[in-house]
Amino acid sequence: MSEKPWINGAPAGGGKPEPVLNPATEQPCAEVAPATLADLDAAAAGALAAWTGGWRELAPGKRTDALFAVARALREGADELAGLESANTGKPMGDAVDEVDMAARTFEYYAGAVTRLTGQTIPVGKAGLDFTLRQPLGVVAAIVPWNYPLLIACWKVAPALAAGNAVLLKPASLTPLTALRLGALAHAAGIPAGVLQVLPGPGSSLGDALVGHPLVRKVGFTGSTEVGARIMALAAKDIKRVSLELGGKSPNIVFADADVELAAAKSPLSVFSNTGQDCCARSRVFVERKVYDRFLSAFVAATAKLKVGDPALRETEVGPLISARQREVSERFLDEAKRAGRTVACGGSRPAGRGFYLSPAIVTGTEPGDRVWREEVFGPVACVRPFDDEEAMLAEANDTPYGLSASVWTRDLSRALRVAKRIESGVVSINSHSSVHLEAPFGGFKQSGIGRDLGMDALASWTEVKNVYVAP
Ligand code: NDP
Repeated sequence: MSEKPWINGAPAGGGKPEPVLNPATEQPCAEVAPATLADLDAAAAGALAAWTGGWRELAPGKRTDALFAVARALREGADELAGLESANTGKPMGDAVDEVDMAARTFEYYAGAVTRLTGQTIPVGKAGLDFTLRQPLGVVAAIVPWNYPLLIACWKVAPALAAGNAVLLKPASLTPLTALRLGALAHAAGIPAGVLQVLPGPGSSLGDALVGHPLVRKVGFTGSTEVGARIMALAAKDIKRVSLELGGKSPNIVFADADVELAAAKSPLSVFSNTGQDCCARSRVFVERKVYDRFLSAFVAATAKLKVGDPALRETEVGPLISARQREVSERFLDEAKRAGRTVACGGSRPAGRGFYLSPAIVTGTEPGDRVWREEVFGPVACVRPFDDEEAMLAEANDTPYGLSASVWTRDLSRALRVAKRIESGVVSINSHSSVHLEAPFGGFKQSGIGRDLGMDALASWTEVKNVYVAP
C-alpha cells in the first residue's frame, strides 16, 4: 500500500515515500509520502476556497446530512478501517472495532448537534434587540497522536466540520493510514473537496508550519505536554485559538469500603488498556491500607491474566507498544525503580519473538519522589501505594502538574462526591475505570491541557461568538 496526502478531494503531492511499521511484526505495513510545505500551502488555499465557496454558507440541515453520511461511510468501511488501525498501531482488533464504532458515533452526535448550536437573546440596557451568533472560524488545524489515530481525529474533525469550518488534519507520522482513509471516505460521502484535507508529515517541520500558517485560525491538538507548550507559544504570535489535550498521571483511588474485588478486576483496564498508551491511564493507584494486601493480590492476579499477544486475534487484550523507543521508555522507568529497591510485583518482561511487546507491570514500594510514581510513562506500568488518611491522600493525588482523569472506588456516596470535587482533574469516574463519553466534555486541568474535546463544549470551541445589536 502506498499513500499520498489527501488534498482537494484526491491523493496529491507528497515527498519521498516512507515506510510505516506494524508494531506487532516490526515490518512495514504501508508507505506514505509526507506532505511538503508546498502541499501545505496548496491544502490551506484549497480549504479556504472550499470554505468561502460554499461550506461556510451551507444550511445547517445540509451539514447534518453530510456528517451522517460520513458516519455511514465509517460504519460501511468498519472492517477495513479496524484492520488498518490494528495493523498500524498494534492495538487488539476488538479495541480497533470499538474505536471505529465510536468514531462513527462521534460523527452521528455532531450531525445531530449542528442544529443545537444556538446563540442567546440578551436583554441589554437599551431598547432594541440583542442576540449572539455562533460562527465558524474558517480554516482550522487538527494535530493528532498515534495512540487512537482515527478516534481522536474524529473527535476534532467532526465538531469542527459541524460548526462549519474547513479542516487541515495532520496525523502522527507513525500512524497516518486511517486518517488518510477518513479523508477519502468523507469525500466519497459528500464532504466537498477541500473541506477536509489530510496532511501526513513530520511534526517538527510540517507541524510547526501548520501551526504558524497564516490561513489557520485555530489549532486543536492532542499529544505531549511538551509539544502542546510549543504549539501554544507558536500560536501566540498571531493569537490563534488553541485547544490542547495533553499528558496525564492520573490517580485510581480505592477506599476500604469499596467493592474491592470489583475495583481490582476493573483496574487493569484503567491503566493497561491500549498497552498503557493512554493519556487517561490511572497509573497511580492509592489503596486504603486496611484493604491494601487484599486489593494488591487481586489486582496482580487480574493483570497477570491479561492476554498479551497478536493484535489480530480477537481474544488478545494487550498488544505491543507503538515503537521500540516507546518500549524502551517504559523499561527505563522499571529499571530505575528496581535499582532504587522497589518491587516489580508482576510483568515488565519482553516475550520471545518479534513485536514491541512488554507485559503489564505493577510496581510497589515506591516513594512520592520516585520518577515512576510522578512522571507519565505512557506504557504498561502502574504503581500501587497504601494510604491512611483521605486528606493526605488527596494532597498527594493533586501533587502533580497534570490533571486529566481519576477513578474513585467507594460505597459511601458522600465520600465519593467530596473526593470527586476535590480532585484536580477534568474527568472523574466513581466506581468505574473509564470516564470518556462522547456526549460529555473531556479534557484536562493544569498541564493536561486547555479546552475540551467531545460534547457541546467541543462544538462551541470551534466557533467564534458574535454579538449583534439591532436598534429599535
Ligand atoms: P507528540 O506530542 O510528539 O505528537 C503528537 C502530534 O503532534 C503528532 O502528530 C506529532 O507529529 C505532532 N507534532 C510533534 N511535534 C510538533 C510540532 N513541533 N508542531 C506541531 N505538531 C507537532 O506526542 P506523541 O504522539 O508522541 O504521544 C505521546 C504523548 O501524547 C504522551 O505524553 C501523552 O500523554 C500525550 N497524549 C495525550 C492525549 C490526551 O488526550 N490528552 C492523548 C494521546 C496522547 P509526528 O508524529 O510527526 O511527530
